[in-house]
Amino acid sequence: MAKESGADLIGIADPKELSGQEYQGNSPLEISEQFQSIILIGVMIPKGAFMPLPKGRALYTNTLMAGTATLRIISYKIARKLEEENYLASIAPSEGSEFGYWYADKKTLKADFSMKYAAFCAGLGSFGKNHLFISEKYGSRVRFMAIVTDALLEHGTRSATFLHSSCKNCTACIDACPAHAIHEDGTISRSSCAEYMFQTLGGLRCGMCIRSCPLSCPD
Ligand code: SF4
Ligand code: SF4
Repeated sequence: MAKESGADLIGIADPKELSGQEYQGNSPLEISEQFQSIILIGVMIPKGAFMPLPKGRALYTNTLMAGTATLRIISYKIARKLEEENYLASIAPSEGSEFGYWYADKKTLKADFSMKYAAFCAGLGSFGKNHLFISEKYGSRVRFMAIVTDALLEHGTRSATFLHSSCKNCTACIDACPAHAIHEDGTISRSSCAEYMFQTLGGLRCGMCIRSCPLSCPD
């Protein structure tokens, strides 16, 4: 159903895997211990939305939001289908939205749980130094939405190392970040990134950590 509706990536993660030292996000099980599966739906964001950056921020932001709208439609269909089958299902938001970090914890700017990490646990790809999910086919040009459900579905397993091997000798995203939010030591300043997009750019998205990445936007 997800594929027919336009999803490019689909995976299922075990909520219990979102824990441990490597994981820095919140646990979905803190919201409800009844969650048995996280269904990840991803859509690729067209490369053409990134190539005119940084000047084309309005084009990029609008395309990104079209991706979010597509994900909402697909996720809603799936949530309804699960409920027809007598399971409970809800659609989890990512930390960023049309309204900024509206859904995120206001102190940490973190979402209820990391969809990117869930996608990694589901075997869909790995992470980059840009702190974004990296898929083999699209790099970081992907956007996710997740459905949490009490349906015990078959969980995927990790298929890659946490950090993508191409990141080892690359600093392109660190060098390109106008807010200096991505650091060499592997940390990221969410507040610097948020401040840049929602104050300096007035809500338009930046995207330079994807535009500069050779895995996402090869020239
Ligand atoms: S730009 Fe380089 S270091 Fe950053 S995520 Fe892409 S490959 Fe990794
Ligand atoms: S979106 Fe822009 S400001 Fe935020 S981390 Fe990426 S490059 Fe830096």
